[in-house]
Amino acid sequence: KDELLLKSEKLSIAGQLAAGVAHEIRNPLTALKGFVQLMGRGCGSADLYLRIMAEELERIESIISELLMLAKPQALRMKDCDLGTLVQEVVLLLGTQASLQNIEIDLQRPAGSGPWIRGNSNQIKQVFINLLKNAMEAMPRGGVIRVGVEETGETDAAPLSLVRIIDQGGGIAEEQLRVLGEPFYSTKEAGTGLGLMVSHKIVEHHGGSIRITSEMGVGTSIEVVLPAAAGA
Ligand code: ADP
Ligand code: MG
Repeated sequence: KDELLLKSEKLSIAGQLAAGVAHEIRNPLTALKGFVQLMGRGCGSADLYLRIMAEELERIESIISELLMLAKPQALRMKDCDLGTLVQEVVLLLGTQASLQNIEIDLQRPAGSGPWIRGNSNQIKQVFINLLKNAMEAMPRGGVIRVGVEETGETDAAPLSLVRIIDQGGGIAEEQLRVLGEPFYSTKEAGTGLGLMVSHKIVEHHGGSIRITSEMGVGTSIEVVLPAAAGA
């Protein structure tokens, strides 16, 4: 009985996701079709059409690649990795873009190596890329994003690794916080609304969790908690 319930629930989630994907991809496809027809009739500015078409194609591409991240977890290779180094690599990766936007990413990590987690480094990096990009997109006028990496070594509990990302963006309204992480929820013109959902799925798959707190006009703080690698 329980198993049946679980399966039908999963089916309806798959159905919802499929409907969402179909809807999200149909919009750019409809636009592409329209521009192809216009160009076929030789009317309007081909340069402009081509630029919009390239943007729409890019949008479809990013939706597909984010969805693929969801499909992969089952076949993932997990190994011990240094979370501090992973986060530092992501900060370096986004550094140029950040300084172009007048944003400083201030990373505080423990001296030396660690904390160690067990996971898939590409996926874990993807999580921090998604979260840092959101933070940067929330700060159009620039500012500082504080990133902290630490290990919480509670004596009676398993050790946890924690990454905290604090931005100085506009914040997230309370009613928005509740729908966050639902597929395709985005307040951005070019957003896919998949970044948080994908990040949540990845972290969950690693046995961790994501906590978001936000204050309008002050900023948002995102905590990613991951279990430490065994024997770390
Ligand atoms: P996308 O970035 O494509 O919109 P996400 O799933 O990454 O999709 O984020 C969903 C929504 O959550 C964003 O559109 C934005 O409204 C909100 N959000 C996420 N992170 C932040 C942040 N750091 N500050 C403000 N709003 C945020
Ligand atoms: Mg995003």
